[in-house]
Amino acid sequence: MKLSDDIRYIKGVGEKRAALFHKLGIFKVRDLLYHFPRGYEDRSLVKEIADLVPEESVCVKASLVSGVRNFRGRSGTQVMQASFSDGTGVLKVTWFNAGYLKNTLRSDVLYTLYGKVSKKGTMFEMTNPVLETPEKEGAQSGKILPVYPATAGLSQKNIREAAENILRQLEDYPEEFLSEELRQAYQLVDLQKALVDVHMPESFPDFEAARKRLVFDEFLILQLGIGSFKKYRQSHSAPVIRDVKCIAAFAEGLPYALTGAQKRVINEISADIRKNIPMNRLVQGDVGSGKTVVAAAAMFAAARNGYQSAMMAPTEILAEQHYQSLCNLFAPWGIPVVLLNGSQGVKERREIMEKIRSGEAKIAVGTHALISDKVEFYNLALAITDEQHRFGVEQRMALAGKNEDTHALIMTATPIPRTLSLVIYGDLDVSVIDELPPGRKEIKTMAFTEKKRREIYAFVAGHIQKGRQAYFICPLVEESEVIEAKAVTDYVDKVREELPKSVSVAALHGKMKAAEKEEVMHRFAEGKIDVLVSTTVVEVGVDVPNANIIVIENAERFGLSQLHQLRGRVGRGKEQSFCLMICQSTGGLAAERMKVMCETNDGFVISEKDLQLRGPGEFFGTRQHGVPEMQIGNFFTDMDMLAVTQQAAQTILRRDPLLSLPENAALKRTVSLKFEQFGSMLN
Ligand code: ADP
Ligand code: MG
Repeated sequence: MKLSDDIRYIKGVGEKRAALFHKLGIFKVRDLLYHFPRGYEDRSLVKEIADLVPEESVCVKASLVSGVRNFRGRSGTQVMQASFSDGTGVLKVTWFNAGYLKNTLRSDVLYTLYGKVSKKGTMFEMTNPVLETPEKEGAQSGKILPVYPATAGLSQKNIREAAENILRQLEDYPEEFLSEELRQAYQLVDLQKALVDVHMPESFPDFEAARKRLVFDEFLILQLGIGSFKKYRQSHSAPVIRDVKCIAAFAEGLPYALTGAQKRVINEISADIRKNIPMNRLVQGDVGSGKTVVAAAAMFAAARNGYQSAMMAPTEILAEQHYQSLCNLFAPWGIPVVLLNGSQGVKERREIMEKIRSGEAKIAVGTHALISDKVEFYNLALAITDEQHRFGVEQRMALAGKNEDTHALIMTATPIPRTLSLVIYGDLDVSVIDELPPGRKEIKTMAFTEKKRREIYAFVAGHIQKGRQAYFICPLVEESEVIEAKAVTDYVDKVREELPKSVSVAALHGKMKAAEKEEVMHRFAEGKIDVLVSTTVVEVGVDVPNANIIVIENAERFGLSQLHQLRGRVGRGKEQSFCLMICQSTGGLAAERMKVMCETNDGFVISEKDLQLRGPGEFFGTRQHGVPEMQIGNFFTDMDMLAVTQQAAQTILRRDPLLSLPENAALKRTVSLKFEQFGSMLN
């Protein structure tokens, strides 16, 4: 068996089961080898009944000492009860819907029961334990069993057996890429042993050692990838944008004065783009802090020096909006801006591409398809990515890697804890816009239960009568576009019914074509639609200052950072703005989140609270933050290892920045495997 073999060829897998493995993202033998258990059942822990402790999962070796009682429970479930003893005490066992056991229990057999212990009065109990006879072939008692992330139709047993087959038959284990020296220095077991032991450890110390090695690898590879990528960028040169003083004139022409923070960040960017080393800068700034104009200042300088800039947004709606605002900003200066998006006709598209190629267009706006191979720039000097948390490390590399001779500016509204930003933005310099434009009114935020729905609608209707507009964020539905579309349509009907007839309501959701979405956004921005009912597609960046109310349904089901992003859609104009959250449940965590939202408008505070309330797992698990997904390492609980690997990566890169020394060949192959982009860059 080989790493590159299809999962189908593993004994006992076949077509049908392969399809289930695919759901878990497992296609090849390699994928299953790296599908690590999420936990273990310790069936090596065998206890006597007298020593049992409630809540512990253990094995008990005991025999039947009572008759087997069979009856139907209240809801029709089949219940089976029996008592077992090992001479030290009695264990009462209950099984639900376990008809298959009915005629198999015998009184002359010593069984092994594995399950979680509970205690009622003085009696120890187990519910639905695993039952095994010791002589049964392949008995699992006495072992530490892996528990895998699974999916409906694919049992733990199926995955275990497939994994076991691989471990027994694999001919080409991944190559050992850490030198003997490194393994000794950091006390790491060799890779093959780690891979075997993480699936089927013989003891917990073995597991710990395996995990340590695999977490080390995962973090090291990430840091080497990002680190050598940075060195790679620095080994290139980008156009020098000599005259940055012209930005002062641009600032003069704005209808408002820049904030101190905006000026500072523009200065940091100016200092970068005057050099021939490609800029790699991240601008962090809360929603509404005015990142667009900061990016525009840099593009202005590029254009004035004869160079082109590109600005990329995660969605077409956003690209369209940036296009509008940049046109407004640059029209007085006669700087031509073009928009490239998926809904344009072939002919129009060709014309725009030609303008980009000839250099006639100085600024090009689009989704990140803009930097695809097909679009040819005349002299691109600056590439700006907005709302980058939607893009991951790898996409960022892909973008910058294709344009290694270009200054890169990345803008994000999602702050992340500092320790982490050092890792995932390790290749970037960071600027922070920590000040909102003056005169912004705090958004008034309130949480309600279902009972207040009527009053909320009346409140919204009142503001619409005065000429304002509102967003309604639709109840959350499953991530299927078909269901989503239906849910939005139903909800639109409901909103229409509750609001006066004269109010115009339109919907926006993921299932709509890009052109349709744009059309709706346009009409909303022009004030032709009063109420925009939307799923979270409006979450990022959309700017309609006249909209001053956002109603969020099922607010309890959103994370804090996302609520904050949604709220950022309002509070952009002169009027007082409102964020009204409707909650179905008001218990513990939900109440806590609502309280935070009502108390603060500060994105940095909210991000910290979010981390605290959700727990690190969930926080980092969300793609929102652009944090790369780890197979086994945990950025929060393995913080120490993060520091260790950072140091190790730096030591390696200091000697060999692009991993080109022969001794690092295996390391480089492994990094390239993880970061495909990196591989193709260096080879
Ligand atoms: P974000 O940082 O969320 O991308 P935007 O760039 O969309 O924010 O800016 C939000 C709004 O604030 C825009 O309407 C913009 O014109 C306005 N704005 C930006 N900077 C200033 C400023 N210094 N003073 C007043 N308004 C500003
Ligand atoms: Mg923005």
